[in-house]
Amino acid sequence: MNLPELDMAWLELPRDKAGFVRRECPRCQRSFKTRPSRHDAGMLQRLLAGYFPFENLHEAYTAEELPAWHCLYCGHRALPDAWLTPEQSAHVEQMARAWANHVRYEQLAYVQRTLAHNPRPTFVSVAPEPLPRPLPPDEELLRTLPMVCCGDEVQAQWEWDQPMVCPRCGAHHGGLSGRQQVQLEFVRE
Ligand SMILES: [Zn+2]
Ligand SMILES: [Zn+2]
Repeated sequence: MNLPELDMAWLELPRDKAGFVRRECPRCQRSFKTRPSRHDAGMLQRLLAGYFPFENLHEAYTAEELPAWHCLYCGHRALPDAWLTPEQSAHVEQMARAWANHVRYEQLAYVQRTLAHNPRPTFVSVAPEPLPRPLPPDEELLRTLPMVCCGDEVQAQWEWDQPMVCPRCGAHHGGLSGRQQVQLEFVRE
């Protein structure tokens, strides 16, 4: 039998206009943004599989090695699924529940179809609610900064002027000098 395919487009983390995705530190609870990671999909699938252990999800994704991330501000290191904002995390859970209902419906419908010759079916499967809408795009603009260590860019809170840690490789970077601050504030206008 065929289970419904989970369309990954529904599960994408929202991006802002510049293409950055928000992350929230599980320790200091500050948020920053990074470019989407190629491991995001695997991380989301693994979270989904954690809510409802469907075998097909486990086979496909739980073997993937997911590198840990570092907090831009406090340097805390944690696996990728620890960095969801409360909003993102609630969305993944909603999606997992909705999808589980779809799978259950398909299973019942399959039983019904194969028992079509049965004149007295003992149940009727009710079509599940549609899957939740994706989260809206992230509108807040943060300060874009280069991470020269990884040739990457991150977005930090405007008021943060302390040293920073590269989310990807953990390298430490000094705080912004006064001149850089002025230039960045100017760019913001
Ligand atoms: Zn932190
Ligand atoms: Zn780096």
